[in-house]
Amino acid sequence: MSQTVRTRIAPSPTGDPHVGTAYIALFNMCFARQHQGKFVLRIEDTDQARSTPESEKQILDALRWLGLDWDEGPDVGGEYGPYRQSERKSDYKAYAERLVEQGDAYYCFRTPEELDLIREERKAAGLNPGIKGDLELAASEVSNKLAAGVPYVIRMKVPDDGVCVIDDLLRGRIEIDWSQVDCQILLKSDGMPTYHLANVVDDHLMKITHVIRGEEWINSAPKHQLLYQYFDWDMPQLCHMPLLRNPDKSKLSKRKNPTSVTYYERMGFMPEAVVNYLGRMGWSMPDESEKFSLDSMIKNFDLSRVSLGGPIFDVEKLSWLNGLWIREDLSDEQFVQRVQEWSFNHESFSPLVEHVKGRVETFSDIAPLTSFMFAGMLPLTEESFAGSKLDSDILKRVLQFTLWRLEAQRHWTKENIFADVKAISKVMDIKMGDFMQPIFVSIAGTPNSWSVMDSMALLGPDMTRARLRFALNVLGGFSKKEAKRVDKEFNAMQAKIAD
Ligand code: GLU
Repeated sequence: MSQTVRTRIAPSPTGDPHVGTAYIALFNMCFARQHQGKFVLRIEDTDQARSTPESEKQILDALRWLGLDWDEGPDVGGEYGPYRQSERKSDYKAYAERLVEQGDAYYCFRTPEELDLIREERKAAGLNPGIKGDLELAASEVSNKLAAGVPYVIRMKVPDDGVCVIDDLLRGRIEIDWSQVDCQILLKSDGMPTYHLANVVDDHLMKITHVIRGEEWINSAPKHQLLYQYFDWDMPQLCHMPLLRNPDKSKLSKRKNPTSVTYYERMGFMPEAVVNYLGRMGWSMPDESEKFSLDSMIKNFDLSRVSLGGPIFDVEKLSWLNGLWIREDLSDEQFVQRVQEWSFNHESFSPLVEHVKGRVETFSDIAPLTSFMFAGMLPLTEESFAGSKLDSDILKRVLQFTLWRLEAQRHWTKENIFADVKAISKVMDIKMGDFMQPIFVSIAGTPNSWSVMDSMALLGPDMTRARLRFALNVLGGFSKKEAKRVDKEFNAMQAKIAD
């Protein structure tokens, strides 16, 4: 009997639910369903400093909103749990130690500074600066250091030279020189596994048969393949999907495009349309139809129809498709219901009450006061910013610096947003009121709104950034030459803020 197909999505809960995660989840799910297999969700939270429970919840909510349901996962359980790596951490160390015993891995006591120095020296001598097995110490030295409690990591051994051949379901044979591959750390000095060890161990223990993931992981494949060999385990079939790209062909990034699924939900896209659009990223229906449901994608799924040319994620095309879904698939009754569920409901209205109740005399005052909270991009023109006391150059910098600073903000709270804005206004030496004026206009469409900090916190990072970006465009943005200067100024400002 042939093996049950088991695929997985393995997100790291370190940020917003990325459309790229949803895209890979969709293809894993379709492949599993096509083969009457199972689709697993595993949370890869071994990077404890960057992982947060809020991000995990958002990722689960976003995938569920899209209807990409999993058969096993941290919230639904399953035979091979726990499905959160932080709950499996005691297991990984033993696997790393097993490789040391077998002679396939070694203890490394070098500090990061020492390793930097080694790399530098090797580079200067014209040698490969990679970290290789020659750093392994004699057994007696290792025992002494272990006994003395010197901190260590465990590294896997990799060949110094030769070629590693990976067999990829979509790409066929991929060759990577071993000289390009470092002796990867498997176990960190805090006893936590790295992605590579935990990922391979869990894929094995969870009986994953097909690893369908983004192309950015191809360079990890040699290490993973070697680990499977060291452990003497069967390796799942690898399949690296093409990366999503911005319309200018660069890798899809939040600097250029809203990348969070939550943003598309808030903008009022239908999940069916988002899934449909993601399904068209590098894939097409046999009849080339542009509009199709998840069910029909599953029915017609065939991995060999994936094309490798970088698929472009274009918000305008997605909007067009969403319009089709709204017009063709929702009855008037369903339309009313969807709109109610989307935003005009208890959950999304409650947080606005404290800001609005004290400012209205009649209920009819509510709509103009709150409409920006339910809108996408606002109808701004250069005129909208005419009330600012700042020179146009300074004004644009206020928006640009705020946008960049907020792009790096990982904990989206009113307090943190406030701290970011305040820090920039201080370095730019602009009074808070003058500094905030154009931000009010960008976010709320008017300088006289209620707390813009609260608005930004409620609107979420992607919508806030999208509006700031849009405002900058309305004001003409920066020329290429200016942009370089502004970038430098921002770096200098970041350094000042960090002081
Ligand atoms: N945790 C990895 C990620 O964040 C998983 C990569 C993989 O699928 O192997 O995407």
